Amino acid sequence: MNISIVVPVYNEEESLPELNDWISRVMDENGLSYELLMIDDGSSDTSWSIIKELKETNPAIKGIKFNRNYGKSAALQTGFNEAQGDVVITMDADMQDSPDEIPALNQMVIEQGYDLVSGWKKKRNDPIGKTIPSKFFNRVTRMVSGIKLHDFNCGLKAYKLNVVKNITVYGEMHRYIPLIAKWNGFFNIGEKVVEHRARKFGTTKYGWKRFVTGFLDLLSVTFVTRFKKSPMHFFGTLGTLSFLFGLVITMWLIGEKLYYVYILNAHEQAREIVDQPLFFLSLVALIIGVQLFLSGFIAEMMTQFRKGGEDYLVVERTD
Ligand code: UDP
Ligand code: MG
Repeated sequence: MNISIVVPVYNEEESLPELNDWISRVMDENGLSYELLMIDDGSSDTSWSIIKELKETNPAIKGIKFNRNYGKSAALQTGFNEAQGDVVITMDADMQDSPDEIPALNQMVIEQGYDLVSGWKKKRNDPIGKTIPSKFFNRVTRMVSGIKLHDFNCGLKAYKLNVVKNITVYGEMHRYIPLIAKWNGFFNIGEKVVEHRARKFGTTKYGWKRFVTGFLDLLSVTFVTRFKKSPMHFFGTLGTLSFLFGLVITMWLIGEKLYYVYILNAHEQAREIVDQPLFFLSLVALIIGVQLFLSGFIAEMMTQFRKGGEDYLVVERTD
């Protein structure tokens, strides 16, 4: 099969029939074999019965329905698990992404060898309250990741099959798929300007809150992908620094006290240890240091129990 198209669907009943028509027309015109994975993310409207209806006329459709709303990432991940095509395309159900882009995206992956091609909504048809924060968000993500993309969160993306089989998307991490891919060793990331259309039916599922949670997610995804395999490198370093800091202060306090008492023989001049702010600082630093170390050990143990466990990907062999 040439292409798997993964479409997350959350209350998009009006869009689905048109989307299906359009996709099947484009695929037929270009002679591409495909499967259309529609993941119903717990819609409360009639989306699911429409998917079942559409399947009767278009056997390429595979519908999957969640028991409740889990979010776009879960829907994408499910599609990734199911996908069988050589190239996997994700696109939103609201028809803001145009299926006409699929053949060119497919070609970039197959012929130009990209691991991942992200759409770039250069001319965006969205309200200004969304486009300006989005520019800022993309700039920060570019700086953190070193990936030269203009539009990380574009719903329209194309992947080699082994990329989607080797990344995990959870929570709200779909915004950071290019980062996750890069940190898993898929460096060949490209970009294609795509047409972006205004939402015709329904409403957006994300408000301004996406920008607050989005940045927290950037922290998590950076942290997790960097230190997942060796959390002790993170916790251990900080823990050691904190502990040493506390230790040095403690030694200083003890040394000072001994100096006054035994060398100067001026017992009454020496301050009580517990009267000194430094004492409390060292106490806190020592405790935090030990805590960080323990967190590191527990995190290390948890990485042992991770599903699959292996942290490498073999791409070629000769037997
Ligand atoms: N979506 C989903 N689960 C959710 C929220 C959204 O599957 O909890 C789907 C939604 O149906 C659409 C895509 O994710 O196909 C993008 O959502 P939306 O168009 O609301 O986002 P925006 O274009 O405003 O960024
Ligand atoms: Mg949309």
